[in-house]
Amino acid sequence: MQRSVKSIFPTHTVLEGGGFQVRRPVAMGALMSPFLLLDEMGPVNYGPKQAIGAPSHPHRGFETVTYMLEGSMQHADSAGNSGDLNPGDVQWMTAGRGIIHSELPHPDFYDKGGVMHGFQIWVNLPAKDKMMQPRYQDIPSNDLPVVESVDGKIWAKVVAGEAMGAKAVIDTVIPIQYIHYRMKEDSKLSHKISAGLNGMIYMFGGQAEISGKVIEDGQLIILDDGDEVEITSEDGAEFLVLAGPEINEPIARYGPFVMNTRAEIHQAVMDFQSGNLA
Ligand code: MN
Repeated sequence: MQRSVKSIFPTHTVLEGGGFQVRRPVAMGALMSPFLLLDEMGPVNYGPKQAIGAPSHPHRGFETVTYMLEGSMQHADSAGNSGDLNPGDVQWMTAGRGIIHSELPHPDFYDKGGVMHGFQIWVNLPAKDKMMQPRYQDIPSNDLPVVESVDGKIWAKVVAGEAMGAKAVIDTVIPIQYIHYRMKEDSKLSHKISAGLNGMIYMFGGQAEISGKVIEDGQLIILDDGDEVEITSEDGAEFLVLAGPEINEPIARYGPFVMNTRAEIHQAVMDFQSGNLA
């Protein structure tokens, strides 16, 4: 059954972390399990020594996923992981019981300036996995599956899940789909999302049509249930497809901690303050 458009949300621009500019769908957090946040970082053109990032901060109870399109970041965390994130790279970080990390512009990028563009999404974890050991998957662009349609009109990069026969190399705790699609002019795409999973699309370029509705750059589209979604584009389009299960548990959230109860949030704050979070 084809999934139709259930609702369309606009985005607004906000300043996050040390002051970096993101485009964020309005009211995203409350909308669609298991995703807690979707930030499009930039695109913003920084002058030399202007780029801003997020200095050392904690997380507990969920996952942060960073996908760079342009620019270069450098990260380091309390579990001893560190590395660079260059265009096309993905970092899938499962904070689990706790991690403290920094996400900063790469020093070379900071010195020279340039365009920074990418995505950070937050994926919730079910209660049974919230306190799991932190896990970290740092996947360079070349190792992420990319697939093109026979006519060359559809391009897809598979961060999580599966698209056009290509399977992700990233392992997720709960079943997640995270696909980056580019459609050329006059193209048509049929994408499978298992029935029962929540599905959505974030457009960040061009224009497309789903179930008779026109969807535009900067819109978040929540899909009805079904087992596939048909997307057509006259002028070309670029978007993310995201899907995952309904977790159906209470959410207690305070800044960088996402748990089930206020008592667990209180514990996370105490653990952080006493140096026992990570
Ligand atoms: Mn973070």
